[in-house]
Amino acid sequence: MQAQADINSNRAIAMNDSRPGPGGGWNGSSFAVFAGAVFNHQSQPAQLTIVIHELAHVAWKGTPMGQFIDINNGLSSAFWISRDCGTAVPEWDNWKVPQ
Ligand SMILES: [Zn+2]
Repeated sequence: MQAQADINSNRAIAMNDSRPGPGGGWNGSSFAVFAGAVFNHQSQPAQLTIVIHELAHVAWKGTPMGQFIDINNGLSSAFWISRDCGTAVPEWDNWKVPQ
């Protein structure tokens, strides 16, 4: 059960079909977001930030934007998501918030 171990040791993982749709982004097929114990220990507003981030992976996989999703303080970072959506920053990303 390595997959289960990965999910439990990581924050969250989005999985979907790797083939992009006609516009280069999400192809409309079903997808799943898995979250483990580390995710579960965050506040609900922080969990919402994480889910929104994972949905960016689904939406932009296979597009030029896809390679920037996990860039520190990029548009889909916890800092920008929390600022734009009124959610919270997960504790592991607190260091990225400008002081
Ligand atoms: Zn990510």
